[in-house]
Amino acid sequence: MSLRLPIRIRLSLWFFAVFGVATLTLLAACLSMVHHSIVELETNELHERVKSVQRFLEAQPPDETLASQQRAFAVFDVTHGGKWLQVIDQDGNWVYRSRHVAEVYPHLALPQELSTEGPSFQYSAGDRHVRGLIAPIAVNGRRYTVQTGLTLNKTMVILGDFRRQIMVLTPIVLILAAAAGYFMSRKALLPVAAIAAEARRISDKNLGNRLPTLGTRDELADMSETLNQMLDRIEAGYRSIREFTANAAHELRTPVSLISAEVEVSLAFQRTGGEYRDTCEHIQQEAARMGKLIDTLLALTRADAGAEHLHFEVLDLNDLARDAGKKWAPQMAKASISYTVIDAPDPVRILGDRPSLKRLLDILIDNAWRYTPQGGAVSVTVLRDDRQATLSVRDNGIGISPDDQARIFERFYRAGRSQNGEHAGSGLGLALARWVAEKHQTSIQVLSERGHGSCFSVDFASVGENLTATSIERPRRTHPIQNQEAPI
Ligand code: ADP
Repeated sequence: MSLRLPIRIRLSLWFFAVFGVATLTLLAACLSMVHHSIVELETNELHERVKSVQRFLEAQPPDETLASQQRAFAVFDVTHGGKWLQVIDQDGNWVYRSRHVAEVYPHLALPQELSTEGPSFQYSAGDRHVRGLIAPIAVNGRRYTVQTGLTLNKTMVILGDFRRQIMVLTPIVLILAAAAGYFMSRKALLPVAAIAAEARRISDKNLGNRLPTLGTRDELADMSETLNQMLDRIEAGYRSIREFTANAAHELRTPVSLISAEVEVSLAFQRTGGEYRDTCEHIQQEAARMGKLIDTLLALTRADAGAEHLHFEVLDLNDLARDAGKKWAPQMAKASISYTVIDAPDPVRILGDRPSLKRLLDILIDNAWRYTPQGGAVSVTVLRDDRQATLSVRDNGIGISPDDQARIFERFYRAGRSQNGEHAGSGLGLALARWVAEKHQTSIQVLSERGHGSCFSVDFASVGENLTATSIERPRRTHPIQNQEAPI
């Protein structure tokens, strides 16, 4: 099981780790630099000491004997502090020998054995730490090896103190840094906690609430704004579902009320057989209307949920128009409306889903029938030019005003009164028809003039004769719905 630490703790730990590594690296570098500088200073001092030995020898007369050189160095010992000094000449005679060094370095290389001075080195003599240097020099034609040294104890005490102070201070600084990191990350994440708390309070009951807006112009402000925009969309979707449900319930209540009123009246008095028959016919009509409404509601709900799957195939628009011609002819005749289907001379092949296109055509013809008075005319036309096929339904009925044309595709929107009284619509037909058209990558265009009639047309990309559904891509054309008033 992995341990899930809160983000502020993780941030603090990261900060602590990075800061700790950086601090320790810096301290190590500082110590090394200080140490290096001290060694350099000490080495320079040792070089100076070698040079002063050389100057001392140069100041002696050239024919000085070894014994008088040794005597002279006794003075050097006193005045120049030659505690860590040894000088040997090219013949192996000790010119000067400090007792302290002799114990540790009983032998010293002859000058002819040394090509050049070596690096400085460190050694211990009793409880003393010494930095030493061995260098060959030449004075008055004779060569000497000089070993000189410096006591390091003071330096080591200073460096040791420095190290100890760092050891004590570093953990304190790291603890302070960790605490600062924790408080900083806590402060930085406070708005997240506020957003989370508000988000927890939002439910379907208070979808109008919004997350706090932080005027900080940073990523968190961006996130809260994005989440608020998401809530706007969810609220709008939720509202439209609520409205849809309320409108659907309202639409269904009308036929149910009519049926129950009809039944109540019939049961109140004794009726003749003919009267009962009329009542049954009314009930049948209302039940049919309710069934149609429920069908459309279901289709729209499935479309919204993405559950309505269309199966595209190559089909002939003429066939669709002729089928609709047969289906609607009796109803049109009953309403004394002249009804014509004008198909194209040759097959008009398009790629489409037959059931949904049938439904679209039924909606348009149904509307033409309902909004055209007795004696009017309705026509269904299939046209084809080079690359395009058009299916249109035209009537000379009541027409639609420009304002209504802009809204007739909205759900439950109804503009005009049905001319076939009892056959009032629900305002859902064109919404469903538009969805079908969009699924076919096209749109429904309306040309209408109040009092003169309407023409609803849909353009499709026509496909060649030898093509099959699998060998063709669906047409990719999107036209905005054009609602414009024009004479029919
Ligand atoms: P309805 O079921 O009310 O007909 P629709 O969505 O099919 O719902 O149509 C919406 C509105 O558009 C209708 O209420 C009507 O006012 C108007 N309409 C649609 N087709 C026609 C038409 N051919 N002639 C006049 N008005 C129409």
